[in-house]
Amino acid sequence: MKLKESNELKQSGLKNTKHRNDVFELIKKSEQPVSAEYIFSELNKNNCPINLSTVYRILDTLCLSDLVTKINIDTENKNLYEYNCMAHRHYMVCLGCDKILTVKNCPLQDYEKQLIDETDFVITGHKLVMYGYCPQCKQQQNN
Ligand SMILES: [Zn+2]
Ligand SMILES: [Zn+2]
Repeated sequence: MKLKESNELKQSGLKNTKHRNDVFELIKKSEQPVSAEYIFSELNKNNCPINLSTVYRILDTLCLSDLVTKINIDTENKNLYEYNCMAHRHYMVCLGCDKILTVKNCPLQDYEKQLIDETDFVITGHKLVMYGYCPQCKQQQNN
């Protein structure tokens, strides 16, 4: 696996080490949030030897620099990481295969405004995670 060099690390004032670059690029090209264990096994599988504690250390650094967002979805109480594209997102989690789909539209913005009007509460954010079964798992259950 040949990963391209990332300028974003430099722009965030981080030294562009090989390991950092490998971890960051892997997160960026993943279509769903990934766990530290996943990053660890993917990189090792693809001839980029790294150990798990290094992966965790790099993830902490990337999160501190806001390049990566840490999310906690409570099915397994595991932290997952995704590229921080500054967009507000929600997630759908499959309880069958642990797949996580990203939902880009937020249905709650109007509701937030309404709540602020009604309660005078200062709302600074919200979380919304939907749990269920993906099409593949749904089909398996029907069989
Ligand atoms: Zn599934
Ligand atoms: Zn939202």
